[in-house]
Amino acid sequence: MSSTALIVLGPSGCGKGSLLRRLREKHPEFHLAVSWTTRAPRDEDRGAYIYKTREEFESAIAGGEFLEYDEHYGDYYGTPRSELLEGVTTIIEIEIKGAEQIRKQMPDIPVFLITPPSIQELERRIRHREPNLPEEKVQRRLERARMELEVGPKLANTVILNETGEEGFEQAYQQLEEAVMSFVS
Ligand code: 5GP
Repeated sequence: MSSTALIVLGPSGCGKGSLLRRLREKHPEFHLAVSWTTRAPRDEDRGAYIYKTREEFESAIAGGEFLEYDEHYGDYYGTPRSELLEGVTTIIEIEIKGAEQIRKQMPDIPVFLITPPSIQELERRIRHREPNLPEEKVQRRLERARMELEVGPKLANTVILNETGEEGFEQAYQQLEEAVMSFVS
């Protein structure tokens, strides 16, 4: 099967979701891979997941149906191979362990890493976006972000800094679009 795919990585709060939303608005021809998960649906998911039972997910694992999968906080998450559509550029938005698994199978797949200006700024964004998030979860996300920002650059072809403010977002978007288009064309 011929397919083109790319990975977009970045810690929670780096602005990856907004950048990808803009990219998809401008380029509806791209396909954004939809993950499977066994966790319960949430309002903010907005079509990000297909929900499965543990039995369904484990049967798909046994059938080799995933490009990658992982367990987070007791639930499975994974990218089904069927999300790689023939002749369509597929964007896989994923965390670092999933990206490493995909790289092993697709060594040439480009990886774009979105980074915040600093961990302090990331913390500010996370607290601003979800003011009621329990402190333990804030700290868990920050710990994870530190790891992603340390390991991510070793995996990434392109690192895109998403500065705070509208101008920073515009610059990050332009850089992402340029990098993606240079890969696609
Ligand atoms: P949430 O439940 O907050 O939406 O996601 C929890 C974690 O699962 C996040 O770190 C997110 O990046 C990760 N995740 C979401 N989809 C996938 C996927 O398809 N594969 C893997 N490996 N992780 C995923």
